[in-house]
Amino acid sequence: MDEIVFSADCSKCFGLCCTALSFERSNRFGHDKLAGQPCQYLADDFRCRIHERLEDLGYGGCDAFDCLGAGQRASAAFATENWRRDTAIARRLHARFSQLLLLQEMRQALVTAANLDVPAELHQRRLGLLQRVGDEADSDDKDATGAAQAVLADGKAFLKSLAAVLAA
Ligand code: SF4
Repeated sequence: MDEIVFSADCSKCFGLCCTALSFERSNRFGHDKLAGQPCQYLADDFRCRIHERLEDLGYGGCDAFDCLGAGQRASAAFATENWRRDTAIARRLHARFSQLLLLQEMRQALVTAANLDVPAELHQRRLGLLQRVGDEADSDDKDATGAAQAVLADGKAFLKSLAAVLAA
């Protein structure tokens, strides 16, 4: 179940990590790219034209990146929208993708925290948050939502409190 929840399915994604996100030329990326701008190596079918040579050509950062399933979720929500021709819709798609990235990262952190030796009450809270985060990540929302922002803030505060308990 977790594998399915967190597995990226690039075959069902509009190349969002290669478009929505920015990166800077470094030892992980070979050129500068602005957020919202398709990478120069992204093909029309959303495949990477240098996929087999990413490391060799200095794009190890691409190889290491994992959207945890945010890409196919955002793409599914916008499948019937004309985001290719309408930049306003494309901006909404990219914003939703960015929020889904955070939701999936939070979701994974809350799942991983199941192994922590903390009081049962904290695990109850963790499960409640996990449910909320999962509901937001699996919703059909087309826009970054205030509800998702709120649950992300709650999750961040909870993880901080867990770290404090573990450090005590
Ligand atoms: S190099 Fe390939 S994987 Fe990296 S951003 Fe460009 S198209 Fe995507």
